[in-house]
Amino acid sequence: MANASERASRLAIEGGTPVRSEPLPWELPGVHWIGDEEADLVEKVIRAKSPFRYYGPDLQHMVDTLESEWRDKFGMPYTLGVNAGSQALLIALAAFGVGPGDEVAVPGYMWVSCLSAIVRMGAIPRLVDIDDTFCMDPVDLESKINSRTKAILYVNMSGATGHIDKIAQIAKSHGVYLLEDCAQAAGASLNGHPVGTFGDIAIFSFQLNKNMTSGDGGMMMCHDEHLFKRCFAIHDLGYARNSEGRLDPSEEAFQLWGVGARMSELAGAMALAQFRKLDQITGAMRTAKWRIREQLSDIAGLGFREIPDPKGDSGPFLVTTYANQELRDHFVDALRAEGIRGPEGSLTCIKMSEWGMHWYFNNPSLVQKRSLSSDGFPWTHPANAFNADMNYERGLLPSCDKHHDCGALMAVASSLTDRDIDDIVTAYRKVARIVLG
Ligand SMILES: *Cc1c(COP(=O)(O)O)cnc(C)c1O
Repeated sequence: MANASERASRLAIEGGTPVRSEPLPWELPGVHWIGDEEADLVEKVIRAKSPFRYYGPDLQHMVDTLESEWRDKFGMPYTLGVNAGSQALLIALAAFGVGPGDEVAVPGYMWVSCLSAIVRMGAIPRLVDIDDTFCMDPVDLESKINSRTKAILYVNMSGATGHIDKIAQIAKSHGVYLLEDCAQAAGASLNGHPVGTFGDIAIFSFQLNKNMTSGDGGMMMCHDEHLFKRCFAIHDLGYARNSEGRLDPSEEAFQLWGVGARMSELAGAMALAQFRKLDQITGAMRTAKWRIREQLSDIAGLGFREIPDPKGDSGPFLVTTYANQELRDHFVDALRAEGIRGPEGSLTCIKMSEWGMHWYFNNPSLVQKRSLSSDGFPWTHPANAFNADMNYERGLLPSCDKHHDCGALMAVASSLTDRDIDDIVTAYRKVARIVLG
């Protein structure tokens, strides 16, 4: 019979005592901070019987206030609340005038919404590899840009940015639009510049997994008035609105088509309360994450995602890398057995290969070039004939394929206690000693 200390030093996956038995908290960052502030603002909207943002009996201007506080925080002249990040991506590409004959450069580690927006606008996605920041590789981008490239869709992945400054220079020098997807990185920055301020348009999401949430919702921001007015018309019913909040089709330049993606006052109220806590939420995650990362930094064989500016990390994920797939799989399985996992249904501690449609080749609609219409649009559009020799199967992007096989991701909840942090460090060190040792 092994004694207690022998059992504690043996891996839980091999019958030892796990480091902890309580699940870690849910990863959903904004959720742990929902409180009276959200309830009070949402209740105001309900009591005023005015849940629509453009008019009503006693409008509370929640979305207006959110947009205005957002402008102040980011120092951007134009902001627009929308109903989802996915629609925001489509609206932005539509505002650029992206369509058949155009390519949009997009990284192979992203979210399905990025691909969907490009294809729904009738353009063709041109996949770009990532580098060790897990964001778009500027070197590969340079080799993929061509005369058809109309826009670059850069994604600030998993809470932090990569070389967005270099990407912005490339966009500028080639005269192509830059759309920044900040859905996973609200509150992140690079050398003091917030993500979302580098490109022509930026989008954010308030879906449940993001740094702040209103269940669903999103924000767009941009520098240019003309682009903003196009976004406005497209996000609504295709036209501007007058000071009474009624549709105003008088300006010829903004007689467009709308996608019905307005933000409601209910979502605006909740998002406003969450936005006022964004720095606390990201601060909690960043502090916990870097405390963990620093305490693991001396472990040989345990690699980390490169983060060019740790101070600008919004903190929701710890991404680690391993020499090969076998070690990675063994490490993650062993970690989970030590109790580094969340409640049933959460995705707290996973292999990158369990991260689904974040990886290009796991998107069947992309790989199979699916269409919404029976004519095969946009793949069959004559202006898109060039896509005949393009394929999206695994093997296209070596760095993506490697990180999918050899990377792992642990969510850093926004409510970790000192004890949780100690347990996480203890578990990684215990597993590393035996699996990597
Ligand atoms: C969540 C997400 C979106 C989409 O946001 P929704 O609000 O869920 O539509 C877009 N891009 C990325 C990178 C995301 O993670």
